[in-house]
Amino acid sequence: MKSNLDLQASKMLKEAKLYCTQGRLAILKVLMEAGRPLRQEQIAERLEKQRLDKVTIYRTLQSLLKVGLVHKAYLQERTWYFELADKCSKNQCHPHFTCTNCGETHCLTDMSLPMAKSPHKGFVIHRQQVRLEGLCPACA
Ligand SMILES: [Zn+2]
Ligand SMILES: [Zn+2]
Ligand SMILES: [Zn+2]
Repeated sequence: MKSNLDLQASKMLKEAKLYCTQGRLAILKVLMEAGRPLRQEQIAERLEKQRLDKVTIYRTLQSLLKVGLVHKAYLQERTWYFELADKCSKNQCHPHFTCTNCGETHCLTDMSLPMAKSPHKGFVIHRQQVRLEGLCPACA
């Protein structure tokens, strides 16, 4: 029997016109279960049983990024965090809030901001990503 997450993941791949490989399914499921952005390393830890090597995980993430199923959420301490793109709109990602005291980053999925206008002639905006900094409720 296929689980609900399996079905959801294979539907996402089908809609993105990507082949349904074990690796793609596994990474989508990890991100769904996590419900928050993860580093490639954290994804690998959760895939230990599947025995996917680093290169495969990297390539699989790249293919999911390319079709827009996964977004690079933010960069922290020189490492990218990846998340499912299902809580982002076509041109805008939900903002992320990083606490400068504890370092935790939160997804602000219910916050929408006005879309920036092109600053000068010739610049074309494809996507708006906003990062906020301050203190989280636990540290304020
Ligand atoms: Zn996004
Ligand atoms: Zn904090
Ligand atoms: Zn997020």
